Amino acid sequence: MTTLRLVLGDQLTREVAALRDVAKGDVVLMAEVADETTYVKHHKQKIAFVLSAMRHFAEELRGDGLTLDYIQLDARGNTGSIAGELRRAVKRHKPSRVVITSPGEWRLLAELRDLDLGVPVEIRDDGRFFATTARFAAWAAGRKALRMEFFYREMRRETDLLMQGDEPAGGQWNFDSDNRKRLPASVAVPQRFGVEPDAITREVIELVERRFADHFGDLEPFEWAVTRADALRAFEDFLRHALPNFGAYQDAMASGEPFIFHAAISPYLNAGLLTPREVCVAAEREYIEKRAPLNAVEGFIRQILGWREYVRGVYWLKMPDYAQTNALHATRDLPWLYWSGETDMHCMAEAIAHTRRHAYSHHIQRLMVTGNFALLAGIDPKQVAEWYLAVYIDAYEWVELPNVQGMSQFADGGLLASKPYASSGAYIDRMSDFCKSCVYDVKQKSGPKACPFNYLYWAFLIRNARQLRGNQRLAMPYRTLAGWDAARKAAITAEAEAFLDGLATK
Ligand code: FAD
Ligand code: SF4
Repeated sequence: MTTLRLVLGDQLTREVAALRDVAKGDVVLMAEVADETTYVKHHKQKIAFVLSAMRHFAEELRGDGLTLDYIQLDARGNTGSIAGELRRAVKRHKPSRVVITSPGEWRLLAELRDLDLGVPVEIRDDGRFFATTARFAAWAAGRKALRMEFFYREMRRETDLLMQGDEPAGGQWNFDSDNRKRLPASVAVPQRFGVEPDAITREVIELVERRFADHFGDLEPFEWAVTRADALRAFEDFLRHALPNFGAYQDAMASGEPFIFHAAISPYLNAGLLTPREVCVAAEREYIEKRAPLNAVEGFIRQILGWREYVRGVYWLKMPDYAQTNALHATRDLPWLYWSGETDMHCMAEAIAHTRRHAYSHHIQRLMVTGNFALLAGIDPKQVAEWYLAVYIDAYEWVELPNVQGMSQFADGGLLASKPYASSGAYIDRMSDFCKSCVYDVKQKSGPKACPFNYLYWAFLIRNARQLRGNQRLAMPYRTLAGWDAARKAAITAEAEAFLDGLATK
């Protein structure tokens, strides 16, 4: 009795639910399908990463004696879809049942649930997270606002990570106030840990260059790990050289420095090469053994045990409606500069250049530069979400969408964030060296030399006053606005509109 076991491109671990009870005689199906590579035009490095990691994982499974049915992208007869490849594999192997691990995307799960393969199909929960979707739903039940902080504290208690009995290590749940330093010139950023592409990766790079030449992004240098062994080496390197400073400079941005003290492990966690539990436990050990301070380790663990689990919970709780939210009625088209990087705004040019070159930019650039600009400009959240899904190597809808719709664009009306992450140029100036090499002047509020983030910020608050005025966390700027007369408000709105209308959208 053969069981056909499907392993998707972001399920590359022996711990994945579909492989839990794999037995001799079973067939593991892995398929490179065009649908998943082109439904948005993913960054070239993302496609290369996923395909190469899949091929390496298949090799590992073969090495362990499992029977693989591996369909390459260019294979004859490849139907281009997961459903199509499952149908063909059922015909080939005539299994008695099919076992699948729940995919990370609502669209694909709905498709797989509806699929009639003529044999029983078991879709198992993806157990690679600290909290099941049911656990999150139980926590969320009856709450009006879903604040990450409270979920995170429950997760800390449940996992015992950074706990001293019932109390958080160091007597505080949160060390954010220590974690907002600008990067001083005297602090050297560690060199990024890079992996030399092997023969499999080089072959994939050639394939991507051939098939996806018109997709966004540079393909080389390609320095990402594509195996668990190399992802572990990359993570070890982070623990040794970057974790101690991760907290202090978590929000810092700097010209020509995409990674600063960040881990750059999100593609590995999301694809299955690393597990969230092992990285949190390893980081905790650095604190216990006094190699990294508590503010750094707590900051790091909070991102994974807190934010990562929480956004996944929100995604599965609120989909499919969540993707349609647009609480601020934002309708402007995404400016072309998001793809070209051609802009005089130095902060935007930097964030987009990092993205183009590495399929990566760190959290604060995603949130407070490209995300903040889209929010202030009133760009249609669907177009914003599509951009984020396309350009980042770690982008899968379950994690990308809540970060964009909820955290960055306030499209869910405040379900996820207690206030919009909107700011003028002053924030970017405080946290980076960008403004000193920008043609705009961050100190000027209006006029041709003024930083666009400044007048866009006030125009945003004016435009959305009806919805946002009552938000306690925005009381201060709305008090300032209350002192402005109608003419002043109209002038700043007109200046913002003129700037935005001047941006090309194609
Ligand atoms: P570090 O800063 O070193 O943090 C360690 C880990 O914490 C990350 O690897 C990641 O797994 C986790 N983490 C941190 N913040 C978040 C968060 N807000 N949500 C979920 N996990 C988090 N992350 C993705 O993995 N995929 C995405 O598609 C994605 N899209 C985003 C879009 C926007 C608009 C924003 C504001 C954030 C997005 N994030 C996304 C979250 C975060 O920016 C990335 O996880 C992080 O930049 C990855 O780099 P790193 O591994 O160096 O992270
Ligand atoms: Fe960005 Fe404004 Fe600073 Fe220029 S001046 S880098 S546009 S924040």
